[in-house]
Amino acid sequence: MRISTQLLSAFVGITVIALVVFGSVAYWITLDINYDNQRDFLRLSSDRMVGELAAKLSVSGVSEQTLETVRRQLAPSSSLAVVYDSNGTLMAVAGDIPGRETLAASMLARRPDESDGVYQTGRLPERENQGVWLSAPIPETPARLLLAQLDDQAISRFSVTLATRLLSTGMGIVWASIWVALLLSSVIARRLHEKNVALEYQATHDTLTDLPNRALLFDRISRLQHTAHGDGTTFALLLMDLDRFKEINDTLGHHFGDQLLQQVGNRIGQSLREGDTIARLGGDEFALLMPATRQAQPVRCAERVMQQLDDSFLIDNIPVQVKVSIGIAVFPEHGDSAESLLQHADVAMYKAKHSNTGYAIYDPSQDEHSVRRLTLMGELRSAIADRRLTVHYQPKIDLHTGLTTGVEALARWVHPELGFVPPDEFIPLAEQMGAIRDLTDCVFAQAMQESRQWSRRGQSLTVAVNLSTHCLQDSSLPERLAQLMRTVDFPASRLELEITESALMHDLDTARAILNKLNAMGLKLSIDDFGTGFSSLSYLTRLPVDALKIDKSFVIDMHNNEGNAAIVRSVIDMAHHMGLKVVAEGIETQEAVELLAGLGCDLAQGYFISRPLPGDQFETWLASSRSSSADEARASARPRDQAVV
Ligand code: C2E
Ligand code: CA
Ligand code: CA
Repeated sequence: MRISTQLLSAFVGITVIALVVFGSVAYWITLDINYDNQRDFLRLSSDRMVGELAAKLSVSGVSEQTLETVRRQLAPSSSLAVVYDSNGTLMAVAGDIPGRETLAASMLARRPDESDGVYQTGRLPERENQGVWLSAPIPETPARLLLAQLDDQAISRFSVTLATRLLSTGMGIVWASIWVALLLSSVIARRLHEKNVALEYQATHDTLTDLPNRALLFDRISRLQHTAHGDGTTFALLLMDLDRFKEINDTLGHHFGDQLLQQVGNRIGQSLREGDTIARLGGDEFALLMPATRQAQPVRCAERVMQQLDDSFLIDNIPVQVKVSIGIAVFPEHGDSAESLLQHADVAMYKAKHSNTGYAIYDPSQDEHSVRRLTLMGELRSAIADRRLTVHYQPKIDLHTGLTTGVEALARWVHPELGFVPPDEFIPLAEQMGAIRDLTDCVFAQAMQESRQWSRRGQSLTVAVNLSTHCLQDSSLPERLAQLMRTVDFPASRLELEITESALMHDLDTARAILNKLNAMGLKLSIDDFGTGFSSLSYLTRLPVDALKIDKSFVIDMHNNEGNAAIVRSVIDMAHHMGLKVVAEGIETQEAVELLAGLGCDLAQGYFISRPLPGDQFETWLASSRSSSADEARASARPRDQAVV
């Protein structure tokens, strides 16, 4: 039953019950008052009659005529007067009631105990003769007078009129209450409906962007599934997240991040066809549901979304560039439930993110990879917290002297089931999970402590630690490092930071502020993987850079790749002109050492010298390095002016 009908029947029901109850009470009260009045009047009449009769009785008894005369004078009309003795024997009867003898006889037969001699009173029980009776002793005689009066027709008529009026008033009230109830119930029902609609909207929409949320998306997917099962159509789910959102949120604040998400939601919405659904799943994750698609359509849609986000967003007058990664899963090919489609779109999105292609369609062969990724993500945080992540050290030797001057600290993780996990795999995961700060702190702490041990034994080396993009947007880094250095008692001058160009480029201004602070504390800075970035080199003059590390891809084969050799030579020249040192990494051969020494490269690092080693093994290596591989390196070292390439 509809809520308005329920309310209406409740109102009418309550009104009818109230009317019946109050009507009956009023009716009975009226009858009662009538009865009391009649009885009082009878008593008055009987008092006067017994006085009159007493005189007559004591003299000669009473005849019916006398009694009738007295009754007429003193009793009301429609009454019956009976005089009887103490045995109940009728002495005289008078009255203007039809069948008065019979009524008198039946009343006497049923008369109550009158031994105490006082008034008796009651209602006439006869159906055809309704009324009130009263019996009283006649003073100074053994006789009693019974006076009865039939209900006045006028009084009955009054009761009927009252009942009719009550009924018609009741009907009027019911009628009015039906209208009031109708009005009220429709207002209440409308309010309830509006409230329900608002609640339903809240439960199915994201409060920030006003877009459908996960619940509504799942609901729409299951509807599409039903139709698709019926008519064999297909649909696609595009899962997307923003590439640098966490950074933006952390550096520019949540308010800024919120506005960005709203604008992104709006823009993605502009790439929709009619019938498509765009939902926000949480954080910077959006999903797009495209019913009745062919394979090419989601790809075109992904391209459209990427285009829409191409222009920078202007928030609080700050322009922000946002890139998105999109994973595509198509029903039923890539999953037959909302969960599996979402999971597979996620796998594809991860691939898109890491291949820098912007979007990717789910490929089942990626699944194995995704299970591994989920396993690693599940355990990385605790591995960092429990210090199950270790640090290996790879030496850097001075190509002019052949001496080991420093090490690069490289994080290592050996998973209990999966074995060695390469840092290229778990570092991006840590960044994604927001665990990179803890990981970096853990590497700094271990590296400083171990290096402190070596210096106690007379080997004071520079320790280089890699910093990822996220660390460079974290303004608490200088203070944290200062604290750590105080705790371990480690000099800032022996700490070096390796930062890739791409990490710097994300937000150069923030990175520069942090690096200037670190430089002021005495730390050194190297640009890692130099040569692989595509940015303008002008940043080199604006940052406190000490060294360039030529990327290993140029160094590894430089002895038989003229192009790479030319790049290495140019980088060394440029760095030296700018007053920077040059480190070559990826030295795998004797030839590479010789070539680099000839080009005047300052420092060398590579498997040829040593692979990254655990702390204790590195110490052993260090002790023997003067006689083994380092000796060869030293022997290859040439003064700069003798270099020929
Ligand atoms: P990277 O900073 O460029 O580190 C040098 C990588 O080159 C290391 O790989 C090292 O083992 C490898 N390598 C050294 N010599 C040679 C050689 O002669 N030939 C070849 N082919 N490779 C050589 P690894 O240890 O696998 O680290 C990979 C990357 O992971 C590092 O590249 C760095 O970007 C990142 N990484 C490692 N540890 C950390 C860390 O603690 N924090 C951060 N943020 N990143 C780290
Ligand atoms: Ca490095
Ligand atoms: Ca490198």
